[in-house]
This record gives sequence, C-alpha cells and structure tokens, in this order.
Amino acid sequence: MITNNELIDKAKSIIKPKKMKHGFIASDCGCALVTAKDNVFLGVSIDTCSSMGFCSEHSAIAAMITNWEYKIKKIVAVDEDGMVLPPCGRCREFIHQIHEDNLDADVIVKNNKVVKLKDLLPYRWDENL
Ligand SMILES: [Zn+2]
Repeated sequence: MITNNELIDKAKSIIKPKKMKHGFIASDCGCALVTAKDNVFLGVSIDTCSSMGFCSEHSAIAAMITNWEYKIKKIVAVDEDGMVLPPCGRCREFIHQIHEDNLDADVIVKNNKVVKLKDLLPYRWDENL
C-alpha cells in the first residue's frame, strides 16, 4: 500500500507549469489518487478563461475512469510549491458524485492530516434523495 508521502511525491512529480494564451497556466497543480484496486492515477490542472479549466483532481479522476474504476481509496492534490491543497468545493462534490463509496475516501488535506471526504461534505444536498 502506497504511503501518504509517496502519493504526495507522485502528485508533485507531474507538476510542470506552462503559461498559455492570456497568461493562464496548465499543470501548476498535480493530483494523485489510489483506487480501491490499489492502482494510482495522476492528473494536472488546466486553468483557462471562460471557466473552461479544471482542477488536477478532475483529470486524475478522468484517468481513473479510463481504467473503468470509480472508487477512490485516497487522494491528494499539490501545488507547484509542493504544498498539499485540500480539494475545492467543486472537487469535493465531484469526487462524491463519481461513486457514493468515495464518501469514505481518505483525503490528504495537508501534510500529516487526512480526513474522510464525508467530513468535508456535511449536509449534502442529496442525503435524503
Ligand atoms: Zn477543485
């Protein structure tokens, strides 16, 4: 089983900021996740104008789904300075909507601090559906 620090290092390893048109930046954040089947998938952020960009969690999850996997055991995102970033609100919801069991995913929110996704999503909008 991959350690938290190994997962953080994998997320860091794919960060390579690239300035694009209008000064927006791709790949200044990296994400690494471990699936329920112990596979690791990586993704980078792409920031663009007109709200077309996405966080690194999105592309890591897309990579996971190319392997027909949906359940996340552990996930982390890191910025270009190597700092662990908690997932934004949109990513918290996105991870949840990919699979209900992801509420029990471990989310590394900073070095040496891990919480369950469900603790980052209290009072969910679909709890009673
Ligand atoms: Zn996000």
